[in-house]
Amino acid sequence: MLRLPQFEVAEPASVDEAVQILKAHEGRARPMAGGTDLMPNMKHEIVVPEVVVGLWRIPGLKGVRIEEGAMHIGALTTLDELAQHPDVQAYLPALAEAVGMVAGPQLRRMGTIGGNVCLDTRCVYINQTYFWRQALGFCLKKDGTVCHVVKGGRRCVAAASNDSAPVLTLLDTRLLVQSAAGIREVALADFYVANGAFNQAREPDDLVTEIVVPLPAPGTLMAYTKLRTRAAIDFPELGVAVRALPGPDGLLTELDVCVTALAARPVRLAIEPELYQGRPLDEAVIEAVAQLAYKRCKPQTNIASDPAYRREMVPVFVRRALRRAVARGPVAG
Ligand SMILES: Cc1cc2nc3c(=O)[nH]c(=O)nc-3n(C[C@H](O)[C@H](O)[C@H](O)COP(=O)(O)OP(=O)(O)OC[C@H]3O[C@@H](n4cnc5c(N)ncnc54)[C@H](O)[C@@H]3O)c2cc1C
Ligand code: SF4
Repeated sequence: MLRLPQFEVAEPASVDEAVQILKAHEGRARPMAGGTDLMPNMKHEIVVPEVVVGLWRIPGLKGVRIEEGAMHIGALTTLDELAQHPDVQAYLPALAEAVGMVAGPQLRRMGTIGGNVCLDTRCVYINQTYFWRQALGFCLKKDGTVCHVVKGGRRCVAAASNDSAPVLTLLDTRLLVQSAAGIREVALADFYVANGAFNQAREPDDLVTEIVVPLPAPGTLMAYTKLRTRAAIDFPELGVAVRALPGPDGLLTELDVCVTALAARPVRLAIEPELYQGRPLDEAVIEAVAQLAYKRCKPQTNIASDPAYRREMVPVFVRRALRRAVARGPVAG
């Protein structure tokens, strides 16, 4: 049995109090929402905070509301609440789909959207016990100087593994972040960085308080598909989000794909407009996009699943996502 290291628990009653505690401990404190990822990482001694700052007593961080053309989601809203929410299902069905595929039911009832957005990266060489990692030799992400995935690599390539991120990326999501210095808005595209050691532009005293998702234009088609070993619980080995916007004539004006679990941050594939603009979202376009994604995605050995197999699955899951988006039809508008 793995034991938790010693730590103190703080239970602030407001965001102001929480960020002051985080600031006072200068990187030695960690916020905890549902704890479904932080706790296992603490047991594996991947993170060893002196103080855990529980967010559960802070009012006003839960719930969903639509305001000025955007969905505002409180960071403490659970994944299960989001997946079941009628407005999320109607306006952001791909987000409901993605968070509904996270882990299993118990974890979705504990796990929050804020914790999912701020999820740590994963790698087959880091998500192990301390003893295992010590036996192999520590790596760049924690305590070591080498990378076991990229020999001679100077930067950790542990995989972004949060299912909500690709859909939120395609929707140009913004985050409300509060720190001891005040409140700011950060575009999700700037929040994730290409460094698996810590893939977020987030200071130790930063708390994500709200996720602001602009509502997609009426007519938008969206979907999320996910490759995983056990559909009942596992993290993504590949996640694919797609967004397409046909004009009133049914011909495409926009088409966007974002993949995850391949690199340290979700990767938005730049699809050349010549491939789809002015064409219907038919099998020919779907195949062209699937082949382009295959060319652009090169999985590494950062996940315990054969990279060659994961690469072959890229076009398969792009096709599935686009077909699902077409079959479901446009979002509410
Ligand atoms: C068996 C298992 C399977 C899983 N499968 C999946 C999966 O398929 N897909 C997936 O995406 N996840 C998966 N997870 C991970 C996890 O359950 C979810 O990502 C969940 O949404 C995390 O939310 P949480 O509230 O529990 O986060 P926590 O564990 O509380 O926190 C996660 C991280 O975010 C930080 N944090 C939390 N809230 C905030 C905030 N508001 N502001 C700033 N930082 C914050 C914490 O300090 C920590 O670093 C799995 C976990 C387990 C144990
Ligand atoms: S990618 Fe390399 S440095 Fe990062 S966790 Fe894996 S082995 Fe460690």
